[in-house]
Amino acid sequence: MCKALIIGAGGVGTVVTQKIAANPVFTDVMLASRTKSKCDAVAAAIGGNRVKTAEVDADNVPQLCELFRAFKPDIVVNVALPYQDLTIMDACLECGCNYLDTANYEPKDEAHFEYSWQWAYQDRFKAAGLTAILGCGFDPGVTAIFTAYAAKHHFDEIHYLDIVDCNAGNHGMAFATNFNPEINIREVTQKGRYYENGQWIVTEPHEIHRPLHYPEIGERESYVIYHEELESLVKNYPTIKRARFWMTFGKEYLTHLRVIQDIGMARIDPIIYNGVEIVPIQFLKAVLPDPKSLGANYHGQTSIGCRIRGIKDGKEHTYYIYNNCDHEKAYKETGTQAVSFTTGVPAALGASMWAKGLWRGAGVFNVEEFDPDPFLAELGEQGLPWHELFDVDIEV
Ligand code: NDP
Repeated sequence: MCKALIIGAGGVGTVVTQKIAANPVFTDVMLASRTKSKCDAVAAAIGGNRVKTAEVDADNVPQLCELFRAFKPDIVVNVALPYQDLTIMDACLECGCNYLDTANYEPKDEAHFEYSWQWAYQDRFKAAGLTAILGCGFDPGVTAIFTAYAAKHHFDEIHYLDIVDCNAGNHGMAFATNFNPEINIREVTQKGRYYENGQWIVTEPHEIHRPLHYPEIGERESYVIYHEELESLVKNYPTIKRARFWMTFGKEYLTHLRVIQDIGMARIDPIIYNGVEIVPIQFLKAVLPDPKSLGANYHGQTSIGCRIRGIKDGKEHTYYIYNNCDHEKAYKETGTQAVSFTTGVPAALGASMWAKGLWRGAGVFNVEEFDPDPFLAELGEQGLPWHELFDVDIEV
């Protein structure tokens, strides 16, 4: 018997709820979010009274605890926003629940994310005998599990790791983000950062870029940005000499982004408008398309993977492990586009790894610390097949 509580009824929460509801390892399923009507719509589409729903403000620990004490979840899957990570972890500790998320904590008033805040919970989760699984979406998530799989099966030492994330889909809108606009714009407008020889090198935003080839897609301009899994991967694989994260952006997207920044709409500090305090980026989110609504007209694929260079049996090898996901196929199955799908499927699968006792432990874990094999054995069946290329030109 395993009870799962999902928090956050956005695009990712929709996919997680569908996948968890379809998995018999979960006896009871609840979806809770700030707006209950959104949870009800997801539950109604699944049908059969399989999914209970509730309203909760995940910024409020007493409210979370009230819900946890009533539903008694074994595991809480947090797919609300990164701002809620710590309050949900606090409530899990208070009520004896295990925890999983897909994005690391970020304070609302500072566009800065790092694991230190959540790693600081290590002793408390350990003492409570509870598991906290951090970053179990696609990136972070599957990218770290791909790296763990490479380290386990194909390398004695990983030296160079380049995570490559291409969205070659087209949603037909002039400008839209593929997941929560506020979080997305904060992520892609910050300075670039990568790891080399024990140091973090900081660049101007989008300063380093080059065309890379993606399977079944072709060449796309790819930009080095900072991404959170780099921090845990260089810690857990100390043989890494350089680790970078590349993301593709179209020219149109970058032009819109530049204008948004230039006119102050990406600001995260409050301003007074007509006597009311508003945060420009939050206002912008309200007028941009809801990422959940993009699916119907989205076509094309995403392609995310790890390009690795390292040593096996004294010889240098290259390795490329990746998944391609089709927006239309994701929409047909779940009513959401591929970015929500590629995030939600691993989160639900990670929760089932915990439920089946395959990923357990007392403390706070990044996903690469667990055995990648049972997870990757099921990832394809869940809709995200993956592929390996050996000793190919990895371009980076
Ligand atoms: P959405 O904005 O679509 O959904 C977020 C949901 O959380 C909304 O339903 C929102 O409620 C709810 N929510 C926000 N604040 C609160 C609160 N205080 N209490 C309760 N519920 C709240 O985002 P996405 O679904 O696109 O993304 C969800 C998460 O997934 C984000 O943290 C994002 O960073 C992460 N992500 C991770 C990826 C990965 O690969 N690792 C990739 C993409 C996303 P309401 O509907 O009322 O606004």
